[in-house]
Amino acid sequence: MKKNFFGSMIAIAAMAVCATSCGGNSSNAESNGADSTIVVNAKCDGVSEVLLDSVTVLYTLQDNAGEHRVPNSLFYGADNKDSARVEELSPSGSVASSIHCFLMEKEGKKVLFDTGIGEKAGGCLLARLDSIGVAPDDIDYLLITHFHNDHIGGMLRGDSVVFPNAEVYVPEVEYAYWAKSGEKGENAMKTMKAYGDKLHQFSFTDSTALPLGIKAMAAMGHTPGHALYMSGRLLVIADLVHGYDLQVQDMNICPAYDMNPVQAVESRKFFFGFAERKKLVMAGMHMPGNGILINK
Ligand SMILES: [Zn+2]
Repeated sequence: MKKNFFGSMIAIAAMAVCATSCGGNSSNAESNGADSTIVVNAKCDGVSEVLLDSVTVLYTLQDNAGEHRVPNSLFYGADNKDSARVEELSPSGSVASSIHCFLMEKEGKKVLFDTGIGEKAGGCLLARLDSIGVAPDDIDYLLITHFHNDHIGGMLRGDSVVFPNAEVYVPEVEYAYWAKSGEKGENAMKTMKAYGDKLHQFSFTDSTALPLGIKAMAAMGHTPGHALYMSGRLLVIADLVHGYDLQVQDMNICPAYDMNPVQAVESRKFFFGFAERKKLVMAGMHMPGNGILINK
């Protein structure tokens, strides 16, 4: 039996609303096998809704059409140093790793966290929004956690912005890194520049930079400017984990996507502890099920 580090502190949120349309795939039931501390969405893989407080709603918008898993080898580390450990902890050979975006409705505004891989690449975000009656034009604020393509891929359609009315917020450290990365950063720069005056780079030290009292926190390691966002009880944990079922058993295990594994491990441990102490609702872009963990 696998052991969940956080034991009964964590439970995945019950779903109030389910809807699925994109891709026609209707089931991605996944259990993490961790002593039943997580009850994963068994009925739908499209949209789910939780109430953060009496008036603030958080929607999970699953960007992939059906279940998405990644191979164990993604977590082997440099020189395959962790391969034996990973295989021991994940005997099925793969790990559930969805792609989620999150929509928060707060004070009459719609705040979208990340945009998935984009429609052209098969991303379902726009279909998920449509299924809850939200048009791209309705998005007031777009908060980006980092510039990997599975997070900013949905910002453009061709050369046109997908969310024309959104004020877009990105960490300036992240922007600066990709701006000096040459060819590797070209797509990210094209995407950011397309938003013109609507794009706002913020500093992690400026606590008033974001709308609606939302705070950004630096969680370096996955990328140089990897940002988490906090609003009331909500902590959007971005890519702190890529294969929760595996990494919750050993937080030292990193996916190949963590650009600085040492920093990524520090950030992962710190923020999971922080969320546990503060009893926060965690929303992760690659978490299984509806991507939400509630610390009780
Ligand atoms: Zn990602």
